[in-house]
Amino acid sequence: MEAKTDIKSMTLEELKDCLVSMGEKPFRAKQLYEWVHVRLVSSFDEMTNLPKSLREKLKESCSLTVLTQEDLQISKIDGTRKYLFALSDGNMVESVLMKYEHGNSVCISSQVGCRMGCRFCASTLDGLVRGLTPSEMLDQIYRIQTDIGERVSNVVVMGTGEPLDNYDNLIRFIHLLTDPNGLNISQRNVTVSTCGIVPRIYDLAREDLQITLALSLHASTQEKRQELMPIANRYDIHEVLKAMKDYVNATGRRVTFEYSLVGGVNDTDEDAVRLAGLLKGLLCHVNLIPVNPIKERSYVQSNHRRVLAFQKKLENLGINVTIRRELGRDIDGACGQLRRRHLRG
Ligand code: SAH
Repeated sequence: MEAKTDIKSMTLEELKDCLVSMGEKPFRAKQLYEWVHVRLVSSFDEMTNLPKSLREKLKESCSLTVLTQEDLQISKIDGTRKYLFALSDGNMVESVLMKYEHGNSVCISSQVGCRMGCRFCASTLDGLVRGLTPSEMLDQIYRIQTDIGERVSNVVVMGTGEPLDNYDNLIRFIHLLTDPNGLNISQRNVTVSTCGIVPRIYDLAREDLQITLALSLHASTQEKRQELMPIANRYDIHEVLKAMKDYVNATGRRVTFEYSLVGGVNDTDEDAVRLAGLLKGLLCHVNLIPVNPIKERSYVQSNHRRVLAFQKKLENLGINVTIRRELGRDIDGACGQLRRRHLRG
């Protein structure tokens, strides 16, 4: 049997062509697109302004990707909601909703598992299964917006997976997510976080997007970065910083550097001084994250005083820096933990 067309991954233009080829009028595409991307329905039967005959035809040749909620954990501390969703092939992904004063922010996964191998991360322990389709990335947001009955205003691609290792699907996802005919999330409210796949950073800079790019830096020297992140063996720290500079020049956007503080590994004053040196003159912001310990590894968090001292040091050296609020500490905080718990049963 031929695979069904994944209509949630199609642009409005593509949908028009598709419907016309089925012998339908182009305006049906606009109606269909609105059911899928604005009203966020989960079945063809809910598309009540489409003739029943068309709905039947669509059911036969097209699929409507809808994730199934398998688990939900709600933080008693701050209301953060962590969702576990099943995909149609039975794989599972995690997504997180965080409520901020400026709006609802959803953190999505871009792959099932990950092959980047960062030493402190739970998502990569079992390797990569596959990349998510654009529709599977979108539907994490659609299901959460439907569940809470409130608009999602910010999206961060910082869950499981390396988004730039699923590049074409990521770009298509961003276009659909920020489409004025769809959910219409502002490009400026979309952040993509990468471990630093250098050629794809140059590509992303040329997509003519106004999204925020975040680089997981986590070290102030090539040697220390190599210890924490295998990707550093492919691309040297200076190469990746050069690519980030190019991103700033090409897009005019301020970039973010994520720096997870690991006790006794990358959190000394000397690290802060070297980090400030690396970032000097670059339009950027540093986000400090106290590492979230996973039981498979022995890394520990820097103590709070050390985190504050590290921040102060960077500030004194003229670097824009914030400490990431640790939301949802009581609900399997670190990336990939909820999915792993379910995999192990
Ligand atoms: N692959 C992408 C996005 C997913 S990881 C990337 O590497 O950026 C999202 C962020 O969480 C990254 O900065 C990652 O390094 C960090 N991270 C992963 N596990 C962590 C942990 N246990 N504690 C703190 N930060 C972690």
